[in-house]
Amino acid sequence: MSLESTVYQSTVFQQACRQFDIAADILQMDASVRERTKRPRRCVIVSMPVRMDDGRVEIFEGYRVQHNLSTGPAKGGIRFHHDVTLGEVAALAMWMSWKCSLAGLPYGGAKGGVIVDTRKLSTTELERLSRRYMQEILPFIGPNVDIPAPDVGTNEQVMAWMMDTYSNHKGHFDPGVITGKPIVLGGSLGRREATGEGVAWFVKSYLQDLGIEPEKTTVAIQGFGNVGSEAGHALYHWGAEVIAISDYTGGVYNAKGLDLKAAQAWVAQHKTLQGFPGGEPITNEQLMELECTVLIPAALERVITEQNAGKLRCRVLAEGANGPTTNKADEILAQRGDIEIIPDVLCNSGGVIVSYFEWLQNQQNYYWTKNEVFDKLYRMLAKAKASVEETKKKYNCSRRTAALLLGISRVAEAKSKRGLFP
Ligand code: GLU
Repeated sequence: MSLESTVYQSTVFQQACRQFDIAADILQMDASVRERTKRPRRCVIVSMPVRMDDGRVEIFEGYRVQHNLSTGPAKGGIRFHHDVTLGEVAALAMWMSWKCSLAGLPYGGAKGGVIVDTRKLSTTELERLSRRYMQEILPFIGPNVDIPAPDVGTNEQVMAWMMDTYSNHKGHFDPGVITGKPIVLGGSLGRREATGEGVAWFVKSYLQDLGIEPEKTTVAIQGFGNVGSEAGHALYHWGAEVIAISDYTGGVYNAKGLDLKAAQAWVAQHKTLQGFPGGEPITNEQLMELECTVLIPAALERVITEQNAGKLRCRVLAEGANGPTTNKADEILAQRGDIEIIPDVLCNSGGVIVSYFEWLQNQQNYYWTKNEVFDKLYRMLAKAKASVEETKKKYNCSRRTAALLLGISRVAEAKSKRGLFP
């Protein structure tokens, strides 16, 4: 099984490569450094036997891809989803490399994934799977090697089980191996809100640049998980109206604004948004094409495609998800020129930035207040935004390419300065 057939042929991986090539061409990157910088460094495939509640043993497949280890320990979340592929995990790992580099974090990039529909597991089955996954990737991770975190389908509890499994192996409490933990186990205040809070910070900042006021802002959010719901709350508190939200079952629309707290309570009780009475039902496709100030894709990759890119009716596209816009859609949006895109590696970087803070607090055994966390977060977001805007002007390129130029060039420079060993 070669990387060619499992990774390089993957549509999502090719999407990430195309974005990389555009930036590498502008940088006139030397061919040898270029290939080294682009390819994933390590792809680990594990098969995990898990005992189910009825006594059967089921085998799950999982991955951990370390895209870059040249600029520090690798960093990136773990996704539990039934459609996960190795190619997708490799693309997500590549985006983590650029995201960490752009934010100036002392990390490489990685991502993990397990093919599983968590809705079909009991809590005890989920615990056994989480622990088994950690057990299998244990030789490849550690606070100075590779530090996982939550992503789609995983949460604080899953991180707690994984940290416990790792710590039991080491024989001592070692919280710095993973971020996104519960507070009581060395998690950081503000980590749960961080990705959505960061998305909202960028949205506010770019709307201010455009002279659009909070009261005149309407928001549509595709995906009502951790990122979408936190971004929605933060924008609502700023004064915007969230007029549409959705999950995989479909969405709800209310021109006067939705009650997000009620929607969250509904999801907590019914597991999905289906049947939520706060507005009219709409499909995910309809949500994407709604007239609104800000559209936030906050779920999975490749939802803005050549089919709908021409039909978007937002002023700002804020990429809470990783890789939501295909290369073709990017070209269409560039031709249109009427939508400001806040690209994923910039827009959702608040999550990994506060993960970095969590890891720092674990190393120091000294914990910060929520205000300290957010204060430091906003400063780093502002710095990243300013450097992206400067690069965008300098190269007269799209904001995505500017963000990637910054992220990629630091990794490529580190690789070329380190040279080859052996
Ligand atoms: N999964 C998140 C992301 O895609 C967070 C990663 C982390 O905190 O390490 O950025």
